[in-house]
Amino acid sequence: MAKLQPVRGTHDIMGDKARTFRFIQQKFQDIATRFGHQEISTPIFEFTEVFNRTLGETSDVVSKEMYTFEDRGGELLTLRPEYTAGIARAFISNGLQQSLPCKFFGFGPMFRYERPQKGRMRQFHQMDVEILGVPEPQADIEVLAIAATLLTELGLMDDVTLEINSLGDSESRNAYRDALVTYFTAHKNSLSDDSLARLDKNPMRILDSKDDGDRELVKDAPRISDYYNETTKEFFAAVLSGLDALGIDYVINERLVRGLDYYSHTAFEFVTTKLGAQGTVLAGGRYDGLIEKMGGPATAGIGWAAGMERLAELVAPDLMPGAPRPIAIVPVGAACQTEALKLAQDLRVAGFAVDMSYRGNMGKRMKRANKAHALVAVLIGEDELARGAVTVKIFDDGSQSEVALDQVMTHLQDIQQ
Ligand code: ATP
Ligand code: MG
Repeated sequence: MAKLQPVRGTHDIMGDKARTFRFIQQKFQDIATRFGHQEISTPIFEFTEVFNRTLGETSDVVSKEMYTFEDRGGELLTLRPEYTAGIARAFISNGLQQSLPCKFFGFGPMFRYERPQKGRMRQFHQMDVEILGVPEPQADIEVLAIAATLLTELGLMDDVTLEINSLGDSESRNAYRDALVTYFTAHKNSLSDDSLARLDKNPMRILDSKDDGDRELVKDAPRISDYYNETTKEFFAAVLSGLDALGIDYVINERLVRGLDYYSHTAFEFVTTKLGAQGTVLAGGRYDGLIEKMGGPATAGIGWAAGMERLAELVAPDLMPGAPRPIAIVPVGAACQTEALKLAQDLRVAGFAVDMSYRGNMGKRMKRANKAHALVAVLIGEDELARGAVTVKIFDDGSQSEVALDQVMTHLQDIQQ
């Protein structure tokens, strides 16, 4: 029989990797909650329209990465490639415009049909933060503060650089767009096919092209800051001064556009040089037009998503809290099995981590307890039991003492302290 393999670009997450994921997720949950965000879980799949209409037909995601299928009822569905569109859909479906501002966080698997490589999977995991209903730059500053706090508490702030740009309001963007069309049209023959297709529909996307020829052209393309109007300048300045006030370092990158079509004003990425080609660990921006475009009430929005796999590659193992050292329960002889079982259950209910193996003589079981890095072993033998006692052995100093059964719990509590 052929070896059963996971689908290309998907991974099983277990062992240290699972622990790292859990650690990152808990930090994220904790920090997002401190910033006043509520958890939201949207479905893994949505009507294809939800993503088609929002991410933009010229985006990489929509044009070539979506997992789209027809279900048995003939509905066209797509496995979510990102979080924002689903949250925007949920905002509209649940009529949440009554309760603005909405501050959300969520995490979970995302799906994109990409060429698998280091840091790029077909099923990967994102953590996501969104603020809806706040057109002020304060929201931009706040979501960036969440990101900076997370990266700091994960010990990664020295490994990353915040790159930030303003894509401007619609007036600035239209002016810039015209300038780009003029420039790239003059160099039409050197553009890649992808970029040629974007020239009419969304020329700013060409700035994000990964094609070497396109990148050469992009170097001399018009610069967006030359097209900012006053509103755009003021907004961007307010965001930057907020970051200055909070001591969050950044560099302005005028070539930074985002991969999806719905952004305006602020766009940003936290990048690292430590992961090779896939160096963006967290990315986001403002999307004031998105909800209206989806058929909801005009509502401002800003948010970001972080790639958990990429963060997990960077987090130092010694930052993670070690697993609690278990109490090993060792029945000495089959007659003590039931007593051992009962004690293990009592301790577990009381909150102790307890390790008990399923078979083997005392020697084997002690070996196993050692391997599990147990703090103590509680030996339950017939003779002691007859006296209403057990033997407690502390692994670190090898000391051993007899303890009355009804005193075991307090005795173990003292040792654990
Ligand atoms: P890229 O330019 O690397 O393709 P993107 O613009 O498609 O990134 P976003 O849609 O902004 O990425 O996703 C936010 C974050 O999610 C990324 O910065 C990255 O950390 C992570 N991410 C995106 N796609 C993948 C993937 N296929 N595998 C693993 N992580 C990913
Ligand atoms: Mg991508």
